[in-house]
Amino acid sequence: MTRPRILVVGAGFAGVECVRRLERKLSPDEADVTLVTPFAYQLYLPLLPQVASGVLTPQSIAVSLRRSKKYRTRIIPGGAIGVDLKSKVCVIRTITDEIVNEPYDYIVLAPGSITRTFDIPGLTDHAFGMKTLAEAAYIRDHVISQLDLADASQDPVERASRLQFVVVGGGYAGTETAACLQRLTHAAVKRYPRLDPGLIKWHLIDIAPKLMPELGDKLGSSAQEILRRRGIEISLGTSIAKAGPEEVTFTDGRVIPTRTLIWTAGVVASPLIATLGAETVKGRLAVAPEMNLPGDDGVFALGDSAAVPDLAKGDGAMCPPTAQHALRQGRHVADNVIASLRGQVMKPYVHKDLGLVVDLGGTDAVSKPLGIELRGLPAQAVARGYHWSALRTNVAKTRVMTNWLLNAVAGDDFVRTGFQARKAARLKDFEYTDAYLTPEQVRAQVEGSGRPE
Ligand SMILES: Cc1cc2nc3c(=O)[nH]c(=O)nc-3n(C[C@H](O)[C@H](O)[C@H](O)COP(=O)(O)OP(=O)(O)OC[C@H]3O[C@@H](n4cnc5c(N)ncnc54)[C@H](O)[C@@H]3O)c2cc1C
Repeated sequence: MTRPRILVVGAGFAGVECVRRLERKLSPDEADVTLVTPFAYQLYLPLLPQVASGVLTPQSIAVSLRRSKKYRTRIIPGGAIGVDLKSKVCVIRTITDEIVNEPYDYIVLAPGSITRTFDIPGLTDHAFGMKTLAEAAYIRDHVISQLDLADASQDPVERASRLQFVVVGGGYAGTETAACLQRLTHAAVKRYPRLDPGLIKWHLIDIAPKLMPELGDKLGSSAQEILRRRGIEISLGTSIAKAGPEEVTFTDGRVIPTRTLIWTAGVVASPLIATLGAETVKGRLAVAPEMNLPGDDGVFALGDSAAVPDLAKGDGAMCPPTAQHALRQGRHVADNVIASLRGQVMKPYVHKDLGLVVDLGGTDAVSKPLGIELRGLPAQAVARGYHWSALRTNVAKTRVMTNWLLNAVAGDDFVRTGFQARKAARLKDFEYTDAYLTPEQVRAQVEGSGRPE
């Protein structure tokens, strides 16, 4: 008899937790486990702003998928670009651009999310996101190169546009990104005696009336106060009307000369979900509390790409797209896949939110663990302690701790590596949003009627 095939899509918080638990709990002759992932690592996204600011090296938050010989999962290097639920086939574009059909008996969909954009003129052509390791490394080089170019320029107009930076999105991703990068430019400018530090300006804008409303009024105001004190201009109730290569127009009419627009205004489920042609809630795959797709045997989804009911909150709420939920769902879904395989009863996912930690760089932070409001050093200790303990491996923990200590002792470094320096890369170049098939193309590929473009 052939063994059941379990296919896990995505090696993020949810996918890796799921795979590791399946490896631990299933005997090798009980099922074959395969993982599809474009990268050979699991990325610890919450620390990405610290890679952009150079506090952490990129490798320290990229946890290898091949650290141990115990890991027996077969890994397909590529991205899933479509799923045909009827014939139980996942279509994959490998990293060498070959298209292959991968049949499965059970599929666990954990491809995460992509940056949510809107129909704003120029946005996708001129904005960067903060979702991938390459993007963080690219932005770091880009920001430092703006200082280098402004320093060399004799033109005051060019200088002004190179020394203003705009971050859109007042959630934790945008706030931490603005805070960490502002610290970088603030420290770096001391090495540029020809530059007037007063010309460097960071703008953090959001259409909502508050930054990080999850923090509550008092802590949210503290975060704003810290950022304002550091010279970050915060504009709430404001978004972007238009983006160009050398300026950005805000919805309140202001035109900001800038060559740096970082867009972190929310996420939307991976385009893979739309290829299934199944029911979605705000783009996320609608699943039962057990994280299976009702009416489709052997299909599970979780993390940022799935609308998992939040039973701890009730009232029809769905779990927010956070690492906290994704990794716990990863373990839970593995148990449910195993239960389904063994003909046992699956259990619903329930987890009460543990709170939020926001690292604003240096000793600045705000945190709300288990509802307790913290600021300054205690908040920073909780934020870093939380992230540190959540890193999967001891190697990653050691790398991150060493980087933090090194940064505390030796300060920031401002090396521009020249990474992709002559190639203007934007959102879609990093997130491969144009790689996916339509449901019709998926069918054609599965039926063998031609290679989709
Ligand atoms: C800058 C930033 C800061 C954040 N800070 C926090 C925080 O402080 N606390 C918190 O709880 N959450 C935070 N989050 C959110 C958190 O990182 C996400 O909610 C979490 O990563 C979701 O886990 P996931 O497994 O669903 O997706 P991901 O972790 O994004 O993993 C998805 C994986 O799937 C892969 N993939 C994508 N498409 C495909 C495909 N088609 N085929 C195969 N593989 C694919 C991706 O490469 C990735 O490895 C932050 C996010 C960002 C961007």
